[in-house]
Amino acid sequence: MRINKNYLNLQDSYLFSKISRKVAEYKEKHPEKDIISLGIGDVTLPLCDAVVRAMQVAVAEMGTKEGFKGYGPEQGYGFLRQAIARYYEKRNIYLDPAEIFVSDGAKSDLGNILDIFSVDNTVLIPDPVYPVYVDSNIMAGRKILYMDANAENNFLPTPDESIKADIIYICSPNNPTGAVYNREQLRAWVDYALSCNAIILFDAAYEAFIQDDKLPRSIYEIEGAKKCAIEFCSLSKTAGFTGVRCGYTVVPMELVYENTVLNKLWLRRQTTKFNGVPYIVQRGAEAVFSEEGHAQIQQNIAYYKENAKIISETLKGMNIWFVGGENSPYIWLKCPTGMTSWVYFDYLLENANIIGTPGSGFGKNGEEFFRLTSFGERKNIIEAMNRLSKI
Ligand code: PLP
Repeated sequence: MRINKNYLNLQDSYLFSKISRKVAEYKEKHPEKDIISLGIGDVTLPLCDAVVRAMQVAVAEMGTKEGFKGYGPEQGYGFLRQAIARYYEKRNIYLDPAEIFVSDGAKSDLGNILDIFSVDNTVLIPDPVYPVYVDSNIMAGRKILYMDANAENNFLPTPDESIKADIIYICSPNNPTGAVYNREQLRAWVDYALSCNAIILFDAAYEAFIQDDKLPRSIYEIEGAKKCAIEFCSLSKTAGFTGVRCGYTVVPMELVYENTVLNKLWLRRQTTKFNGVPYIVQRGAEAVFSEEGHAQIQQNIAYYKENAKIISETLKGMNIWFVGGENSPYIWLKCPTGMTSWVYFDYLLENANIIGTPGSGFGKNGEEFFRLTSFGERKNIIEAMNRLSKI
């Protein structure tokens, strides 16, 4: 037996364990200190009432002979796929429910989608980046090219015609930078992908945080995108489903490469290797798209966005350069001159008892940057910003 040696090429994922170790050491020395974390990417508000009730009804249903459900359709129940299609329809994007695949979250699908692509494709990935794109391609042994996201391009790299790639990752609103592409920038990516027969893997996990109508929340708002893009969405941050687990992936019928409809390949992949998301969870997800559920999750999103505003206003007041925070839960700030992101991490922990995430954990271009998240409790955000202002 031989192992997949590509796994040996992965870098140790030490970012969050290193943060935990440093915080534990600091706490041991200073047990009296009140430490505030603006580092976590997990939500803190509970599920909304409409979702809880829908899942309770589904649980009760499962306990009856008539209502019991066993294996469901691998690609998701019709009621949820139709609800998602209607959600897109509100933005004038018309999808057949057969183009929507319900998943247990965007992370799984972002990794699994690679099954349907040849390993000799070249992949183009922004740096800094959500590490899953890089690691899942290293595991498969694909060649990776990086595009620089930096202060000069406001962390929104645009296509470079001289580079030929087959698979392109775009995440907007971006994790870790919080930067959001506008229509013209996304159109440039769609045109580029169409011109070189590439495919865009568009990660829209944070689309619900976009409230500026001028900014695209789906790549399918761009003409031609259905011919060159797969979109990954998640209810994790939108509706607090990080623990419940539900997302969806859109694979339009128009995606045809080498005379093959990608939707059929993905359906075959899913029906072979995936047995679907629990019925109870899908009923909860359906409630997210109901009028009542939508209104309730908007309140949670508004809470996080207000947190982001408090952080942004503080940084502006201190003349600290940053991107994000407006249509995104992430704020990506420039470390003080001369400080690397880990030096700044220690500085903030020791002087303000605030935890954030060092940018270098997301790629080399993050070396002088730092990520703060707005998923915390309001009183902690306010206190953290008071402390930051003082130092
Ligand atoms: N995509 C991005 C950019 C993320 O930041 C995350 C979660 O942190 C995910 C996808 C994963 O989402 P899910 O919880 O649906 O797997």
